[in-house]
Amino acid sequence: MNERGFATITVANVSVAFGGIAALTDVSMKLQQREVFGLIGPNGAGKTTMVNVLSGFQRPTQGSVTLDGIEIGARGPHSAARIGVGRTFQAGRLFRDLTVGENLTIAAMGAGMGMRKARWRAGAILNWMGCEDMAQQRCDSLSYGNERRIGIGRALALAPKFVLLDEPASGMNDAESDALMRLIASIPGEFDCGVLLIEHNMEVIMGACERIHVLDGGRTIAEGNPAAIMHNPDVRRAYLGDKGKGGVTPVKAA
Ligand code: ATP
Repeated sequence: MNERGFATITVANVSVAFGGIAALTDVSMKLQQREVFGLIGPNGAGKTTMVNVLSGFQRPTQGSVTLDGIEIGARGPHSAARIGVGRTFQAGRLFRDLTVGENLTIAAMGAGMGMRKARWRAGAILNWMGCEDMAQQRCDSLSYGNERRIGIGRALALAPKFVLLDEPASGMNDAESDALMRLIASIPGEFDCGVLLIEHNMEVIMGACERIHVLDGGRTIAEGNPAAIMHNPDVRRAYLGDKGKGGVTPVKAA
């Protein structure tokens, strides 16, 4: 916990190797419960591997990942979820033949809530997302953008201390991305929940995040606020092959 009583995830010198491939090398970062923290980098930078480590799907080859001193994922993804780390997936994992409301209710019950409280939480999350009219809709009839939004709602229904969002805006048009960015920026205040946001859409990253960590080839190349990251020469080089003149262009980078 930090001095204000908010939970902290500490990533200390984490490396992950797959055979001879170093997916992450000596990466350290701290995530706070009350902020949106961006993780960016070109394709193959190691972002998804970091999400897998943070959610207990992948054990680090070296280093440690702890939430307030408790090792995350010591016993796999379920123990990570139990101590308060929720996530979404690049491909949604909703129960497709159940309704949106049922999916969120089941998630909240999985976090230990009784039926009545779980239903209430599901309704509150759908209201917050402006999706209350979807409660009775089956998930197999959702548009791609709505499926991704409901995936975030499902992760939040578990009442996590941190939620890891892996490319939530992929496949969304500009208006949908913009609405999603505002929604993500409001998660810490609304749910007392820190956010790790991976996103190739730079407008979403720059608009939603207070701090941004940049990986390239599995290594940290920069960390700072959006303005500092946009003008960082190493970040420009990683994204633009050193052709950029004025910093990372705040448009889609991949
Ligand atoms: P993208 O933006 O393309 O999704 P990323 O930043 O999420 O990329 P990762 O998917 O974490 O990057 O991959 C980092 C490196 O590790 C890549 O070289 C990838 O090929 C490799 N890698 C990831 N998972 C595995 C695996 N299970 N086995 C072998 N190599 C892997």
